[in-house]
Amino acid sequence: MAEVDATHDPQLTSWVTAANAAGSDFPIQNLPFAAFRRAGSREPFRGGVAIGAEVLDLGALAAAQPFGGLAGQALAAAARPALNALMSAGATATAALRAALSEALRTGSPLEERLRRLLVPQSAAEYRVAAEVGDYSDFYASIHHATAVGRLFRPDSPLLPNYKWVPIAYHGRASSLRVSAFDVTRPVGQVLTAGAAVPELAATRRLDYELEVGVFIGRGNELGTRIPIGEAEQHVFGLCLLNDWSARDIQSWEYQPLGPFLGKNFATTVSPWVVTLEALAPFRAPWSRPPGEPPPLSYLDDAQVRGAGGFDLELEVLLDTPGMRAAGLAPQRLSRSNFRDSWWTVSQMVTHHTVNGCNLEPGDLIGSGTQSGPAPGEAGSLLELSGGGKRSIALAGGEQRTFLEDGDRVIFHAWCERPPFRRIGFGELAGTVAPAVA
Ligand code: CA
Repeated sequence: MAEVDATHDPQLTSWVTAANAAGSDFPIQNLPFAAFRRAGSREPFRGGVAIGAEVLDLGALAAAQPFGGLAGQALAAAARPALNALMSAGATATAALRAALSEALRTGSPLEERLRRLLVPQSAAEYRVAAEVGDYSDFYASIHHATAVGRLFRPDSPLLPNYKWVPIAYHGRASSLRVSAFDVTRPVGQVLTAGAAVPELAATRRLDYELEVGVFIGRGNELGTRIPIGEAEQHVFGLCLLNDWSARDIQSWEYQPLGPFLGKNFATTVSPWVVTLEALAPFRAPWSRPPGEPPPLSYLDDAQVRGAGGFDLELEVLLDTPGMRAAGLAPQRLSRSNFRDSWWTVSQMVTHHTVNGCNLEPGDLIGSGTQSGPAPGEAGSLLELSGGGKRSIALAGGEQRTFLEDGDRVIFHAWCERPPFRRIGFGELAGTVAPAVA
């Protein structure tokens, strides 16, 4: 598990002065990675690191070869068009690169003059999904979400008997992964309208978002081997925001008996910036089960998981409608939750994924499942907030929503805040609903 070190010192400041402003998502203590290029250009994508409102171009930096040793090797990997090579370099190499970047961006660094020319404003950058994602699996790790959704379908027994024992997941679709701010086209599919005898082909009337944490795998494991729980985090590169866009009417008609398919795989979006486990070291949280709940099987149990397996990561969803934009209203927060309330930890998801010998590859993506908290205002989907579409949500300006309408923009944020450490953020994951294609 990554430890708190000199890179987390709250007194550190950067010569990129905007990074020192209170409330910046990207102070020098964060240093998340993305794959970027200048917006509208035909330049190759390459790695970048966020500092204040800038991207430090790791492709250009690698050409200058300012770092030796492991940090230099990791920097060369970060110059590639996708971050798989950096992710597979392993936690020791990425920690060395983080330490070198922290020194180079620090106030008084002798590299300031050379590096200042390698900054690109984030407002002038465009991004791709940080890695070439070979496989994407989506878990269901929030018991509060599982219970709330289960209650809509099975009021008497909302939680199925396997839930508390086995980390539930399905294999998602990597081809439809896109980076923020992708426009999501309202999907068409088979739906069975209430009261109808036969299904029809129609544009979804129940388009929803799911507030999730994405997990990028670092080093993989060989097919036929398992990742023990005590080593799981050595195989994780970092976390991002993930929106598992969902068409609830398509989903509810098709999901039995094999699970999600076309109600989910039309689009999944992620934030461009991947916050490393090293950056998250000061914000870990104990993981436990409430009294009376079954303990995990031993392959999912570990003193480190219990001590600090969780992440104290605040999550929020905002909605920005065409009506709100026309009226000059700010996006409205729909909910807030925290990843520390997850029933399963990241390391448990990784270990469980490989317990049968399934191999994870560098750059594979895992979704945490919708992260809903215990309180009613902490639901990470409209399905929950609207009680299955039965309750309208009142919006500023007098509008109402049960599910998403065309032109609606869904915005996710995440951040960690724990004094005396510097607050760090994940940036933004945004997506706008485009009308169905006739
Ligand atoms: Ca999901």
